[in-house]
Amino acid sequence: MINHNYEKLQGSYLFSETAKRAAAFQQAHPDRRLIRLGIGDVTLPLAPAVTDAMHRAVDEMGREKTFRGYAPEQGYEFLRSVIAEKDYRARGCHISADEIFISDGAKCDCGNIQEIFSGDVTVAVCDPVYPVYLDTNVMAGRTGDYSPETGRYGGVTYMPCTLENGFLPRIPEKMPELVYLCFPNNPTGAAISKGELQKWVDAANESGSILLYDAAYEAYITEEGIPHSIYECEGAKTCAIEFRSFSKNAGFTGVRLGFTVVPEELVREGVSLRQLWFRRQGTKYNGTPYIVQRAGEAVYTPDGQRQIRAQIGYYMENAAVIREGLLACGYEASGGVNSPYIWMKTPDGLTSWEFFDRLLNEAGVIGTPGSGFGPSGEGYFRLTAFGNRENTLEAVERIRKM
Ligand code: PLP
Repeated sequence: MINHNYEKLQGSYLFSETAKRAAAFQQAHPDRRLIRLGIGDVTLPLAPAVTDAMHRAVDEMGREKTFRGYAPEQGYEFLRSVIAEKDYRARGCHISADEIFISDGAKCDCGNIQEIFSGDVTVAVCDPVYPVYLDTNVMAGRTGDYSPETGRYGGVTYMPCTLENGFLPRIPEKMPELVYLCFPNNPTGAAISKGELQKWVDAANESGSILLYDAAYEAYITEEGIPHSIYECEGAKTCAIEFRSFSKNAGFTGVRLGFTVVPEELVREGVSLRQLWFRRQGTKYNGTPYIVQRAGEAVYTPDGQRQIRAQIGYYMENAAVIREGLLACGYEASGGVNSPYIWMKTPDGLTSWEFFDRLLNEAGVIGTPGSGFGPSGEGYFRLTAFGNRENTLEAVERIRKM
């Protein structure tokens, strides 16, 4: 009667276990002030351009003449067209408003997209990576059981991303039908160059595979030559779906707004994937509130851009503090240049959890064990730039004294 695939899931062990260990430590040492550099959530408030737009939209909703009911299932045209223009056409990508689907965030879209594919479609994921791609395929029954020995589910292609390959997965010899890619990556912070991404696009077009490209962190890209969208690559419209979010660039984690691009050209077995996604969203999705979509539109105004750029700049200065601080202490650290995540190798051959305990006990700093993001994350550790400056500086100073 029930879906037993859900029982295969390993649950939210990672964040509950870090919270449990931190709470136990705090209880034993009530005088120690803990600094949390493990959080993946933003901390700065919404930009004034955004809250102003929300206030205006609230007032419109409270007047008979300007009240709006159900939002269009694909999202309001005013938001889709500004996205098409500013996020895509301005970067030379030929994406139209019709190919953009507004949603309540990238997590939902990354998790739901697998519903338009068959039950036996083959799947590849980066290892380590944001767990939603894998977990939703586990829930859909596309994998075997979890093996505690290997840390892997059966029937899935894991693409290791380690120091040895610069945290960029190797293209599988036989491409699975669905390949999830995430750049800049959570948790490694690695970014992919346009040339390297083009190789994936070419491989997918050759094999007929579909790339599911999560660009939730594109706003953190600072280096030239790093694509903000997969559609900057030639031929991507016939093989790629892209996910975007307003969470990390504009602080919408609690407001909820994102979008997915499903190009017109994406056709398999004679069926348009855009049509399938349209049907899926029309049937199962309630739409994103007008107020939130107006807030999203405000992100693209000159004031909105200036304000969110300042916030991203603040986080990226934190990232530089952490990254340079770790490197100066002799740790191996990467990321933090095109992403808010810094990924470090644990010292002295410690496991990720052993290092978590050392950092907690000796520095009072909480991070996230890399092994929680996949078996190839063992021996790594993630720190994030979303704290405030004072805490970030102090955390690095404490790590230096360890
Ligand atoms: N994609 C990645 C790679 C993430 O790390 C996250 C959140 O941490 C999300 C998507 C979730 O985005 P949203 O808040 O839009 O659901």
